Formats: sequence, structure tokens, C-alpha cells
Amino acid sequence: MPTDPTAILDLIHESVVMCDMDGRVIFWNEAAGALYGWPPAEALGRNFRELVCIDEAETTSAAKAALLATGRWEGELRRRNAAGEALVIDVRWALSRDGRGTPVATVETGRDVTARKADEERLRYSEHRYRNLFQAMAASFWEIDFSGVDDVLRRIYRSGVSDFAAYFAANPDAVREMMRAARVVDVNDETVALFGNGDKQALIRDLEPFWAKGSEHVFTDGILAGMAGKANYATETRLRAIDGREFDALFTASFPPDTMGKGSLVIGVIDISERKRAERELRQVQADFAHASRVSMLGELTASIAHEINQPLAAIATNGEAGLRWLDRATPDVGEVQSLTSRIVADARRAADIIARIRTMAANHAPEQAIVALNPLVADAAALLRHEIDAYQVELLLDLAPDLPPVVADCVQLQQVIVNLAINAVHAMTAQDGPRRLVLATWVDDAGMLAVRVDDSGPGIAPDDLPRIFDSFFSTKSGGMGIGLAMCRSIVEAHGGQIEARNRVGGGARFAFTLPVATEG
Ligand code: ADP
Repeated sequence: MPTDPTAILDLIHESVVMCDMDGRVIFWNEAAGALYGWPPAEALGRNFRELVCIDEAETTSAAKAALLATGRWEGELRRRNAAGEALVIDVRWALSRDGRGTPVATVETGRDVTARKADEERLRYSEHRYRNLFQAMAASFWEIDFSGVDDVLRRIYRSGVSDFAAYFAANPDAVREMMRAARVVDVNDETVALFGNGDKQALIRDLEPFWAKGSEHVFTDGILAGMAGKANYATETRLRAIDGREFDALFTASFPPDTMGKGSLVIGVIDISERKRAERELRQVQADFAHASRVSMLGELTASIAHEINQPLAAIATNGEAGLRWLDRATPDVGEVQSLTSRIVADARRAADIIARIRTMAANHAPEQAIVALNPLVADAAALLRHEIDAYQVELLLDLAPDLPPVVADCVQLQQVIVNLAINAVHAMTAQDGPRRLVLATWVDDAGMLAVRVDDSGPGIAPDDLPRIFDSFFSTKSGGMGIGLAMCRSIVEAHGGQIEARNRVGGGARFAFTLPVATEG
């Protein structure tokens, strides 16, 4: 036990300072020494205000008045230590009086809260910055209280569900219930303009009305991402304003670092309806352009088409006449007539098939993605060009790799590319004497892409023309439109592939394009 009772005050962590009524230090414990950097021996007898106070007003303030009136005061004060560094001290003052009630000394206990104050300040600044960003961003932001959703998820889990994805898919009502359990805490001005027609209060409610029908999976995918511990989730979807107007949106959700459902999360929404509309228009323009170029390509093929149809028609006429002759006999040969009639039917079907193919190419149908086998498309393209090939004595070689995987593509557009490259090749070769050899080949390239190649033995491409050969309206032909190759490139790229042109080592041009293999699912 220390003999001096004031020595006990040296054992406590808070600073304890006693001053007489003139402000001179008459007691200064060890903790005060540690706090202010003045050892007790140096502090004793000094004027307390001069030693550590920063605010002049401290001694004359309302605090001092309260101390004198009530005998107590507490609050935070700014001080400085021996090194001149500013401190924030949480102090309690008490007034000591003599037997007659006259104040004789003040006692101050203090705790250093400088670090806590700095943390609070940083937090306030960060909160201020967050609020500023929340409000000032040109995107819609929502602060959502997800704790209600967490309750629903727990209930579902307790009922024995472990595969939440399957459960959500099979229980649309539960999904809507979770949307109702998610509460909007706050939204920024952009959200009010985009979703609320200027009425913020109308948006401070549950999330259900804002999900367009058919977009529920985005809500559940977001929840699954949060449950899987992802930091955020983003996708494009359809959302609904409070007045029921639906629009295309980029939706993002950022999950707090702890688990789902605890506290609030922030959702961001950007209205992308304009971009989507522009994309739709661009696709339409591209499809119209592809159609125009296809019709122009068919124009170049008129002779081939006429010839293709003429062949079965001529055969039908010949077989019909022969059949009539068999019937005109004294004893008609029904067997012969039967076999001739079958040939007539087959030829009529062939002619009808050719017409159907041409009509499909000429029709302005919307592009349709389907799983397509490449080799039959190449063979069909060669069939369309048969007359061209025969008339100009072109030797055609089909080098088609067996067992090619399929591709996802629009059949008509893909065939348009192959026919276009092949016609160009035939036309290039007819412009010169010498052997005319056309190779149509398919294979899977080193990168695992499907590839198609059209080789010819023509004059090749002038080196200066190579860099611009796929540009729109580039043509070296008198009367050429120069849209065929531009269209080929646009179609191939829209299918996720690439096209290139080069000169072959032995002479002639090579056009090759790639397409991604169709993936399952
Ligand atoms: P067009 O046939 O109307 O000229 P294209 O876009 O189909 O339009 O072709 C552009 C140009 O590319 C042609 O004018 C020609 O100069 C060149 N070209 C295309 N294919 C070949 C080829 N196989 N050999 C040499 N040049 C070619």
C-alpha cells in the first residue's frame, strides 16, 4: 500500500491533474506525464493553460462557468503535448472546496481520444464522399435493406432446401416474396427521375414492382452470386418504372464484405434502352444490306439459275413424251410409264427445290440463328454455281473435312458468303487464259475454329488493293458495286469469325474465313 494516498493516482490510466484557482499545477500523475509528455517534476508549479491548452477560451468559457456553478463539467477539449502535437482529450472536471465552501482547486481527469476522433473524422469524410457519389452519379443508385430477404432464405433453408437455384426456378412465388421482403432505404435523384416520375417517396418501398415479368432470374442470380460470396453481380435485363413502363437496363449489385442479407447493399442501374434500340437498328440495317447484296448476287447468277431449273424441266418434258409413247402402244407398258412418272416427279421436286432455295435467298427474312452443318452449305453453293463452272470450264474441287462440328449461324447469310467468294473466284479466272481451278475446302484450324477456304488460279489481288479489298464500294470491275466482300466480312464478323484475303504462292487468290464451333447449351 503506498504511504502517500496521491500515489494511488499514479496507478490509474487516466491523467489526473489538480490546479489551484490561479491555474498553477499542484498535482500531476504519471498518466498525465505520459499523455502530455511533461514529467510530473517539470509540470508541477507551471501554469496549466500555458502548458497544454490550445483554446484561450477554455478558461473563460461556459465550461468554466458551469464548473464554478455546479462543481462539475465534462466534455472534449483540444490540447497540445510537449512536442507541440495537437490532442483531443475527453475530460471531467471537479471543483474542490474548503470547509467554508470556497473553491480551492480544480481536478481534471482526462482520456486521449485523438485517434478515435481521427477515425470518426475519416469515417465522416468517407460517408460524405459516398453520399456525394451516390447523389452525383449519372446512374441510378439504390440502397436496399436485405435483412428481410435473409429471413426468407433461412426459412427456405430450414425447410430442407439445399439447391437454391433449382428451388427458385421451381417456385416463382417465393422469388416474388423475396422481392417484397427487400426494402428500399434510399435512392438518388437519377433513380427518382428514371423510376419514380419525380416522386421519391413512391420508391421507398419493396422491390417487387420494379422487376419486369421474365426478369425474375436476374434477381435470383444476384442472390445466388451474393450467397456464393461474390463481391458483385452485373447483367443486362428489363426493369420497370413505378408507372409500369419497362426498359432495358444494366443492373449491378455490390454485396457487403460480410454475408448476404446482413445490412444494406447497393444496386446500380443504367438505362441502356437507347443503346439497345441503336443495336436493333444496326442489326436491321445490316440485314437489309445483306439482303440487297444477296439480290444483286442472284442477279449475277441468273444464267446459272435458269440453267439449273431448265435441266429438270427439259427432263420432265422428255420423260413425259416418252411416257405418252408407251401409253400409245397397242398394249401400254404400265411398268415403263410408272418408272418414267417417278423420274418426272423426282425432276419436278428438284426444280421446286432450286426455286425454293432461290426464293429463300431472295426473301428479306430476319436473320435466324440455327445449328448448321457447314459441308452441305458448301456443296449447295457449288450446285448454285454449276452452270457458271461448266460454262467457263472451271475445274471444281471440293475438299471437305469429314465429321466437322456444327456452327451456329444464319444459313442463308452463310451460303451468301460462300457463293459470293466462289463467284468472285470464277469471274477472276475467266478474265485470263490458262487453267481454271476452284477449290472449296473446309477444316478445323489450329485454334479450334471451323474454317472455309476458296482458292482460285486467277490473277490474284494487286498488293495495293489487299488492304482495302473488304472496304465497301471497293471494286476494280467496270460496273462492279464493291459490296460483295464488305458484306462477307460483316456477316462473318457478326457470326464471331474472321475473314482474310491473300495471294497464293503458286498464283491465284485465297479467301478464307473462320467461324466458332457451336457450343452445347
Ligand atoms: P465487286 O465484285 O462488285 O467488284 P466485291 O466486293 O465482291 O465487289 O469485290 C471487290 C474487288 O475485290 C473486286 O472488284 C476485285 O478487284 C477483288 N476480288 C475479289 N475476289 C477476287 C479474286 N478471287 N481474285 C482477284 N480479285 C478479287
